[in-house]
Amino acid sequence: MISSESLDSADPLAAHRALFLRDENVVAYLDGNSLGRPLIASIDRVHRFLTEQWGARLIRGWDESWLDLPERIGDDLGRAALGAGPGQVTIGDSTTVLLYKLIRAAVDARPGRTEIIIDRDNFPTDRFVVEGIAAERGLSVVWIGGEKGDGADGAPASDSGVNVKRLMKKLSARTAVVVLSQVAYRSGYLADVAELTSAAHEVGALVVWDLSHSVGAVPIELDAWGVDLATGCSYKYLNGGPGAPAFAYVRAELQGQLRQPIQGWLGTAAPFAMGQGYTPATGIRSFTSGTPPIVGMLAMQDMIALIEKVGITAIREKSVALTEFAIELAADMLPNARLASPRNAAERGSHITLDGDGFDRIVPKLWAQGILPDFRSPDGIRIGMSPLSTSFTEVELGIWGIRHPGK
Ligand SMILES: *Cc1c(COP(=O)(O)O)cnc(C)c1O
Repeated sequence: MISSESLDSADPLAAHRALFLRDENVVAYLDGNSLGRPLIASIDRVHRFLTEQWGARLIRGWDESWLDLPERIGDDLGRAALGAGPGQVTIGDSTTVLLYKLIRAAVDARPGRTEIIIDRDNFPTDRFVVEGIAAERGLSVVWIGGEKGDGADGAPASDSGVNVKRLMKKLSARTAVVVLSQVAYRSGYLADVAELTSAAHEVGALVVWDLSHSVGAVPIELDAWGVDLATGCSYKYLNGGPGAPAFAYVRAELQGQLRQPIQGWLGTAAPFAMGQGYTPATGIRSFTSGTPPIVGMLAMQDMIALIEKVGITAIREKSVALTEFAIELAADMLPNARLASPRNAAERGSHITLDGDGFDRIVPKLWAQGILPDFRSPDGIRIGMSPLSTSFTEVELGIWGIRHPGK
């Protein structure tokens, strides 16, 4: 097998690794899909904001530039990583809260329809938000997963995700909204967004896409794919830092039709009139509720700029090379591990999961040595590869560590 050193020296994106902050105690960082490393440029950006903006402008900063920041970053993100034209993306609440706002708005735009479809393998927060909205609005949750052929616990085959065949079985004239993730958080399965969206549109349903595990690592064309609504985290492959606010995409044609449920003053047409009665703003700003978390959205700007500069095609090429290398090494070095991710690169995002007996006991030992993959219940080690910051050598150290975890 080709060595990690030669892969790193042949990597056209290798130089970008030096742009990220490193700590000498971290030997291999394989969890950038949960929390990306900081870019060194962000240190200066945050420092300058505190001194020159917050410290010097004080309240005047809101008038000058802060209030527009969520939509300016949204446009940049749309252009760099979402395939979204301007005026359709904003930065705001957590992904959980934005899921709630988008799904509620979508459900209310399909009166008389009684079902929300989601898969059992989706991230817990997505499922919980859907269950909560169903209870609140008197709707039923229709689950993908738990059918014959799936695992006994109702989970779909561990190495796959939602394809059009599985979705079609659940779609009907009763479907109000479908909620799906582009890349599954555990298996890494990469869904065909355009195909699944158009299948849902055939029955008149809306689709809310969660892009948390794909944005910044996988090509996305929301406008071209006909996507209605999308949201996702900015602290994963967008390196915005812990708890950085999420983004929401609302297709331009839907903005006037949809009403989100958390009516706040900054989503109104004239917030500073301090008037009576809620009149929503036009455009994407109607999806804002309260004061935007400005400090939290500073760092992601550096990563969005870097993604735009490098280009998502080159990022995806390296991502595929990294996951392919990880899979081949694991097959070679970990004969008892089971690949719980698609073997075909075209169906895979930028992480893989390896299931194995006792893997829950290995991860703490690796963390103690500065090798940082993630653990996913019940027995999975998840290896996340953030294309601009992860080296092939880190991947090799990670797989090597799983084989030789020590005591
Ligand atoms: C990481 C992740 C989330 C996290 O949501 P928060 O509100 O930021 O905690 C939600 N959904 C998916 C699919 C995720 O991968």
